[in-house]
Amino acid sequence: MSIEPHLLYSQLPAIDRLLREPAIESLVVQYGQTLVGKLLRQLQVQAREAIKRYQRLPEWCGDWPQALKNLLARQQRSALQPVFNLSGTVLHTNLGRALLAQPAMVAATSAMGTAVTLEYDLDGAERGHRDQAIADLLCQLTGAEDACIVNNNAAAVLLMLAAIAPGKQVVVSRGELVEIGGAFRIPDVMRQAGCQLVEVGTTNRTHLKDYRNAIGEQTALLMKVHTSNYSIQGFTAAVNEAELALLGAERGIPTATDLGSGSLIDMAQYGLPAEPMPQRLLAAGVDLVTFSGDKLLGGPQAGIIVGKKALIGHLQQHPLKRALRVGKITLAALEATLRLYQQPELLAEQLPTLRLLTRPQWAIQQAAERLLPALAPQFSEDFQLRAEPCWSQIGSGSLPIDRLPSYALTFTPIDGRGAALEALAERWRGLPQPVIGRISGGRLWLDLRCLEQESALIKALSA
Ligand SMILES: *Cc1c(COP(=O)(O)O)cnc(C)c1O
Repeated sequence: MSIEPHLLYSQLPAIDRLLREPAIESLVVQYGQTLVGKLLRQLQVQAREAIKRYQRLPEWCGDWPQALKNLLARQQRSALQPVFNLSGTVLHTNLGRALLAQPAMVAATSAMGTAVTLEYDLDGAERGHRDQAIADLLCQLTGAEDACIVNNNAAAVLLMLAAIAPGKQVVVSRGELVEIGGAFRIPDVMRQAGCQLVEVGTTNRTHLKDYRNAIGEQTALLMKVHTSNYSIQGFTAAVNEAELALLGAERGIPTATDLGSGSLIDMAQYGLPAEPMPQRLLAAGVDLVTFSGDKLLGGPQAGIIVGKKALIGHLQQHPLKRALRVGKITLAALEATLRLYQQPELLAEQLPTLRLLTRPQWAIQQAAERLLPALAPQFSEDFQLRAEPCWSQIGSGSLPIDRLPSYALTFTPIDGRGAALEALAERWRGLPQPVIGRISGGRLWLDLRCLEQESALIKALSA
């Protein structure tokens, strides 16, 4: 027997009656009448829609305070939810790249709540620009004459081109016209900066004479781009920075390199794939080098340009610098991150990016073997759990072919069907702290390289 809809509508409690319920009154104290009233009206609308559609009261109408609490919890949840990054990609652009070191977090937090000498000289001396303190640090670390900090490396490249070669020609090898994820393409950035791109060489081979022949009246910059996210193999040739810098110096044309990731320390000493270092390029004679703050450097999102004083001066004075500059929070975090590089012996422990990248496979395997017995019982009905070797990626434009041996917990559906995997991955994405793994070869893989709090994961997956 179905109830007449109008009778159902009349069963919905009035808002002011709900507001007088003790359980809801206490929520009003906590969250305020405005928000609670608004959400109660929202719930009323939902209930009416449910009645209209299904001719019955939705189940949650049995407990309005609880429904309100759930809605409040959903609404208060940040759009930037903390997640477990068990994807196997350490610098995951979609998950926010580098995790900051403790001193960087402290510095950023402190700068947030207080006035700081961002562009204020306590000794009355005239300083050049707001990046000065950090520029000094970068000069010590890289041997540069000066530095400029902007919002990200894409901004660094844009500003560099707009300031150094406005309306002029920039020579780049065809093999280096890269696209980085998120619509950053060298030819597009050139256009946006008001520069004319002159492509030289071929996709696989570019020689010094190609650059030399391209130089003319209008040439304002010779540029190299680090092909970070792909590699060309086989019959290849590229001009190295030292040769190009020499050519530039001969002809009075500045040279620049967009490094993308770039590392201030030699990654090979940790057994990691070698990554070009800004200081080496500067020593080879390159005039300007750009790189990211939140890739291998392990700091906040930022774009860093280091190099010759006169050229950095152009960048600092360009109107785009004002639009692309960073704020005190970023500068504080970046400064604290760079200070860690003054004590390189401590870096692998203190800098989370390096700590995660250098975690030995045996240590990750031990973590997998500790977690296995803790998690297997809850999943054993539907999944077979195993500890298995796997490969992690550095991410963020480091070569995808450079892999790091790692270990994973894998979940294989006992019924052998992929639907169970999708359902499991979806359930984990819906957790209060979502768990992000990766599905491959009929299994769900949780690469444990980036897991530093095992008990937190056990708790999350047991909820
Ligand atoms: C990552 C990258 C960029 C873009 O840097 P963002 O910090 O993401 O803006 C530009 N060029 C290269 C070569 C890169 O690897």
